[in-house]
Amino acid sequence: QDTTVQKPKWIRVKLPTGKNYRELRTLVDKYKLNTICQSGSCPNMGECWGEGTATFMILGNICTRSCGFCGVKTGKPLDVNWDEPEKVARSIKLMKIKHAVLTSVDRDDLKDMGSILWGETVNAVRRISPGTTMETLIPDFQGITKHLDRLVEVAPEVISHNMETVKRLTREVRIQAKYERSLEVLRYLKEAGQRRTKTGVMLGLGETRDEVFQTIEDIRNANVDVITLGQYLQPTKKHLPVKKFITPEEFDEFGDFARSLGFRHVESSPLVRSSYHAEKHIH
Ligand code: SF4
Ligand code: SF4
Repeated sequence: QDTTVQKPKWIRVKLPTGKNYRELRTLVDKYKLNTICQSGSCPNMGECWGEGTATFMILGNICTRSCGFCGVKTGKPLDVNWDEPEKVARSIKLMKIKHAVLTSVDRDDLKDMGSILWGETVNAVRRISPGTTMETLIPDFQGITKHLDRLVEVAPEVISHNMETVKRLTREVRIQAKYERSLEVLRYLKEAGQRRTKTGVMLGLGETRDEVFQTIEDIRNANVDVITLGQYLQPTKKHLPVKKFITPEEFDEFGDFARSLGFRHVESSPLVRSSYHAEKHIH
């Protein structure tokens, strides 16, 4: 039986256009720079790149975890490349990125779980491209506070950590993660003095409406400032199937609910990715 759900008309890839986009595209090809926007064939490239926002991945491209929704390769990661912070920072400068989203694979194989390189990357961007603001989309670092502190110390404008799904589906969607632990990470970051915190949730993985409302509430109770809600799309046939396409109206309803709880910024619509409109979330 074919359980594939038909893609509705509101899910369509916008063809990237615009002068800024084309200029960036040329640079990225010329210098072989790596962005998640490209490797993940994100539908928002034209818009984000046009506004000077892009997402970069650090700590290699092989992850120690194997989340069921994620297109990143799983396996034994390569050694840490200590030149990476400088390289990423130079790319950001070259691309004249106004707001950079930095993210990484999870490095449960490393003693510091990659947090030292994280700190160095933020510092390198500040040094090499001082006009660029940053969001760091970090792993849970297994909830270990001394690793989280390294991020708070270098003070990126926004620190984000994605919840990805509701409590009941967490095991299935991101097997090595825990719902409560991720909430705790977000709560801790704020307590430790981080100015803006942020999280993202994907919908359409089989969650109920009540579970979505509950998740939004749990996140607000962890003092998170920014929430993004978007439609889950299956990267390949081997990944978790889309159970449902949430309508734009339902996204509005969830968004209104989140706003009523007092989040500073709420992005809720089908094509929202956690880094979509990221430049707005620093304020
Ligand atoms: Fe890149 Fe994120 Fe924008 Fe997609 S939403 S183009 S991944 S910055
Ligand atoms: Fe993908 Fe992050 Fe999960 Fe690794 S931890 S598989 S990069 S979502």
